[in-house]
Order: sequence, then structure tokens, then C-alpha cells
Amino acid sequence: MSEILKLSKALLCDRDGERPGDVYVQDGKILYVGTEAHPFDRELDLKGLTLLPAFIDLHTHLRDPGLTYKEDMESGMRAALKGGYAHVCAMANTKPVIETPALVEANLQRARGLRLCRLTQAAAAGLGLKDETPTDRQALSRVTPMLSNDGQTIFSDEFMRALLLDSAKYGFLISTHCQPERMTVARDLALLPETHGRLHIGHISHRDTLRQIREAKARGLRFSCEVMPHHLLGHDLDYKVNPPIRSAADNAALLEGCRDGSIDCLSTDHAPHSPEDKQKGMAGISNIEYAFGIFLRLFRENGISLCRLSEMASCTPARILGRKAGLLRAGYDADLVAVDINAVSYLDPDAMISRSHNTPFGGEKLLGRIQYTIVEGEIRYA
Ligand SMILES: [Zn+2]
Repeated sequence: MSEILKLSKALLCDRDGERPGDVYVQDGKILYVGTEAHPFDRELDLKGLTLLPAFIDLHTHLRDPGLTYKEDMESGMRAALKGGYAHVCAMANTKPVIETPALVEANLQRARGLRLCRLTQAAAAGLGLKDETPTDRQALSRVTPMLSNDGQTIFSDEFMRALLLDSAKYGFLISTHCQPERMTVARDLALLPETHGRLHIGHISHRDTLRQIREAKARGLRFSCEVMPHHLLGHDLDYKVNPPIRSAADNAALLEGCRDGSIDCLSTDHAPHSPEDKQKGMAGISNIEYAFGIFLRLFRENGISLCRLSEMASCTPARILGRKAGLLRAGYDADLVAVDINAVSYLDPDAMISRSHNTPFGGEKLLGRIQYTIVEGEIRYA
């Protein structure tokens, strides 16, 4: 039998609550959670820390292949582990665009070799990320659960209708990029009843979008959506990101959407860029290594529980990806993060380990410090 690792003395927290207890891990899975004595081979003392399911990011840009001067798979995954993420979903807007099963599989194989984060490699829904010629969605759905033209909006109603129908037929998730946001989200929601597609609305930023989402959910439509740290924190800020930074009223509305369950997931849209590319006007923020520090601070300031944060950052993304992960339960994947929950720091862009340090949030207060990130039962960040 392989070794049993005992994670002891932490406060345990997941969607279902906070409680004391030990977590025993074997063969990459959680073996037992509780307070009763259980045999083990090795112990990691987590006294004073909070142990949560590790985070899953449904929206990451690793820039690999082809744009590795901004980030590569290894540097991006090391930044993700530092941020408490065990699983990232890499978007397809690389060079070349990820639009064939071979390109998906090449990245998956490299990720397996690295043994850092788990990887879901999204594939493009249209050749060249355009809403013209569809990719081979049947073939792609055998190697990836996610298709996305992220970075580009799908303007063609016909293309979107066919994509939603294909998602129902082949079982993949569509992650959307909606600009203009309200118009595109309204169109996609209107197509859901006739297509029964699997829709995940990417990076919502506007309070009116949230209103549309609430109304659609109240009508019984089934879909999911996500919000990014910069759309909860940033306002009146001149920094290029897509969708743009909006107002304090939007921040407050989106936080309310996190609290009341209208918004399903916390994602990052980690979008590393070199200083030269930012100067040329490219959109995006490098954030995966401190995203949790912003989420935790904002949730704490607004009286939203750590259990709700865990649900949005781990449990719900796992469910969307069809994984048995995101909860501290026997039989679930042993992807875990140990956090010093009361640690306060201030973001220093120069200290970031991502290859790119593009962020408008230097000096922002962050809450919580990641002490260990465990993936498949292995300590991969300490
Ligand atoms: Zn996008």
C-alpha cells in the first residue's frame, strides 16, 4: 500500500462548513476526514492554518505555445500554485490557436510531464478564433471538455446557435467572451431554450448583466457564469482589460451576486503581458498568484463567508468540469490548499513569480497567505 499522509490540526473549510479535523490522503485521494484516530505514515502539522479544497480556475491564459515571452506553461502553473490553484483551464488564444485535437493533446502531455497543476486545455470553437468556420467539435470534445473563442466575441447568431446545439450533442462546455456584454449575453440566453446548450458566461463585469442573469435563472434556464477579481475590486481605473474595469456600483452589485448565488464561480482571467505589449494597448492583468488575496479581502469586508468563497472557487468549478473534487470528503481528489487566513500583505508586482507583472493593483491590501498547495496528494507549493 502507498503511504498515508496526515494533514493535522488545521481548521477545515469547504462549501459545507467550517470544523476542526484531520485529513488523511492516499493515492491522490482523500482517504478519511474527521477527528478520530486513523493510521498514517507521515504527518504535516497545519496548526493555525485553514485547509480548503484547492482552487480551480476556469479561465487562465498560459500563453503557451507561441507567446512564451509573456508566460509559459511552467511559469504560469508555478504562479497558479503560489495562488492556491491546483487546476487551470487554459484558453485557446495562443500561437498557433488551439484548434485541433493534436494541439490540445500536446499541451495536456506537457502538463502531465510538469506535474504542477492539472490542466484543462480549452479549444477554439471557430478556426482562428473567428465566428466563421467551425472547428471539428466532435473530435475536440473527445480531448477537452471546454470550447471557447475567448478574446473574441461570437457576433454571428447562426454560429452561436450551431455551437450551442453542438455543445448539447457532444457534451462540451462553451465559455463565452461577451463584448458588448449586455447584448451578447442577452442573445446567448435567448438561444438556450431552443438549443439546450451548455453555456458558461465568461468574465461578467456589469450590473445590468447580473440583472439579466438573475432573471434568466429565475425563469429556470440552466447555465453558469463567473466573475474576476478586477471586476469586484477595480473601478474608475485607467487600465486596459477586456471587459473593461467599470464603476464602484458595478463592484458592489457583483459582490451581491456572489453573496446571493447569482454568480457561480470566481475565476481569474490571468492574462500576462510584457511591458512592451501593454504599451501597445493589449488588454489583461496578471493576477493568478494573488487573486485569492483579493477575493478573501472583499468577501471578508462584505460579510460573505469563507464557505461561500470555497464553493465559488472550488466546488462549483469542479462540478462544472465533472470532477469529484472541491469538497473535503473521503473519495474526493486530494487537491488542497493550506492558508494563513488572517495574514495581511500588500501586493508588490516586483515580487510576482509570473513571467509578466502587468497589474494596476500594486499596493492593494491582500488577505490570507497560501502556505501549501497540494495536488493529487503531493505538496507542490510550500
Ligand atoms: Zn475573455
